[in-house]
Formats: sequence, C-alpha cells, structure tokens
Amino acid sequence: MPEYRKDIILDEWVIIATERAKRPENFREEKIKVEKKEGIVCPFDRGNEQMTPPEVLKVDKNGNEVQGDGPWQIRIVPNKFPALVEHAEPLSRQYGIYMLMEGFGMHDVVIHSPEHITNISELDLAQTRLLVEVYVKRLLEIKKDTRIESVIIMLNQGKEAGASLEHSHSQIFSLPLNPPALMKEVHGTRRYFEKTKKCPMCDILKFELSEKKRLIYECEDFVIVQPYASRNPFETWVVPKRHFSNFENILEKERDSFAKCLKMVVDFFYYELNEPAFNYYIHTGPLHDSAGAHYHCHFELIPKFSIKAGFEIATGIDICITTPEYTADFMNNSGRFN
Ligand SMILES: [Zn+2]
Ligand SMILES: [Zn+2]
Ligand SMILES: [Zn+2]
Repeated sequence: MPEYRKDIILDEWVIIATERAKRPENFREEKIKVEKKEGIVCPFDRGNEQMTPPEVLKVDKNGNEVQGDGPWQIRIVPNKFPALVEHAEPLSRQYGIYMLMEGFGMHDVVIHSPEHITNISELDLAQTRLLVEVYVKRLLEIKKDTRIESVIIMLNQGKEAGASLEHSHSQIFSLPLNPPALMKEVHGTRRYFEKTKKCPMCDILKFELSEKKRLIYECEDFVIVQPYASRNPFETWVVPKRHFSNFENILEKERDSFAKCLKMVVDFFYYELNEPAFNYYIHTGPLHDSAGAHYHCHFELIPKFSIKAGFEIATGIDICITTPEYTADFMNNSGRFN
C-alpha cells in the first residue's frame, strides 16, 4: 500500500509507492564504461592549464597552495561559460510589475585531479580528504565577500546528471541571494524549531540511531542515513552529529570523518550499482542570516534513477518507488560501510 511520509526538514509530504519497485540490485547500471576517446584534448588534464581561465586556488597533494607552474592536485578555476558573473551589481530593481537583477555571482569549477579520471570514486581517501579541505578553504574565502549570501557546492556525476565534461570535477556557486531550495529547508526547520524547541536534524539523528532501519553507518562525527521521506531510490545523506549550520565551520577531525564517509558512499555507488549518474551537494546555511539554532548542515546524494513525471512536476510531491528501509538494507549488506 502506498503511503505519504512527511519530510520534517522541508515540512513537505512525499509518496512512497513500491508497487512498481525494482529489487535494489536491479538498479545496477547495465552500461559499459566509456573509454576516453583518443585525440580528444581535455582542458582539465595536467599540461592543458592554459585552456581554462587562471585558477583562483591551486593546491598540491599536501594541501599547500601552489604558485606558478608547480605540480598540483586540485585546481579551482572560474567556469569558462559561467551561469553568473562577478563583474555585475547585486542590486535588484523594478521592471514594470517585475523585478530584475544583474547576474552577479561566482561559478567555480573544482578540478579534482590532474589525471583524466571520470568518476569521483577514482580519488583515493587522501585525495578525497584534500577535496574536502579545498571545499572548506574556498568557502571561507568566498565568505569574506559580503555581497554573497549563500554558497552551494555540488557535483554532477555522469552525463545524465548534467556533467558536460567527463573529467571529474565539482562546482561551487556563490549567490547574492538565498535560493528556494535552501529557504525551504530554512523555513521548514524554523517551523519545527518553533513548535518543539529542537533542531529537526538532531531529532532525526537521535531517532535513526535508535531505530536503525535506515541507518547505514555511524562514527564519532557523522551518520550516514537514508531519509525516512526519501524522494528518490537510494537517496543518501551524510549528517554531522554535532549541531552546526555552516559547513565552513567543520572541525579538523570532522573533515577526516567526512572524507571517509564521502569515499564510502561514492564507492558504494561505483562498485555496487555500477557507476550510476548522481548529483551530490552540500546543504549549508545562509552565510550571514542566523539560522544557526535550527539549521543543521548536511550532504545529500541523489542518484539519477528516475525522471520526474507530470505528477511530480505538477504537484511538487515526489513519488519514490522503493522504501529507504529496503535500500538501506541492501547498502548495509554490501559490506562497504565499516
Ligand atoms: Zn581530463
Ligand atoms: Zn541539529
Ligand atoms: Zn538538504
């Protein structure tokens, strides 16, 4: 029997309807890995640095900033075809009955490796840890610009998830406003906090750790869990145990734990489900607004298994064709989380 489940972060309903469900292992992708085409020049490879705009940050494998042409492990460069530009004014103005603002913002590309790798899972643990460090470093730098209200760090893995270049990279968008997806979480968590005087994510962790039906992994600092009101098969969250709203405030030892969790999660998808496309993002609180008491930053990974149909687009209610209990079980049995 289908059921409605309430997402207490967003204060919204989803539908879990398993009538059309596949078994978890049937989500495994069939496609064969595409080899890099010969003769194609990749702008992200070592030696082709001049093909991208000059970097805003370049670090070596130890995380030290590199000046000039030294060997690097991660580079952050402005997007060559940015959705937003820095040389614009973040001032809104009236246009008839409408509102308008120049497309101000920053659009960074984080090149994960000088080697031509096509999946984030090809980074080893130390390289994944370095990526986490670079995310934090860049966030702290962006935060100094008071025109920026929010930052979203995200990765499109695979063509179906929107990746236009196959060389593994993530993106950082810095916006002069708080986008709707973030505001929905901010408002939803505030409503919960006003009713209960508690952070909903802290409550979720407490409940999931005691019930253990959707729990994938727990360490001192983080919990990997599938959300009760899951919108997508295998939707996976990595949530810090300590309550904090802004990802840039992650502690040194939490960065180690987070890198380990991130590595386990992406490896699960790579090895157990045969490299499906997915999007991941870090949901971090507004940079300057105080949502600190009720907003709890987290990481979400959403595999691209289903395409939203008319019902979902028309109503805003997502239908998930598996239960998170079922897929969490499958993840636990994979032996990849320990
Ligand atoms: Zn490449
Ligand atoms: Zn919390
Ligand atoms: Zn979120």
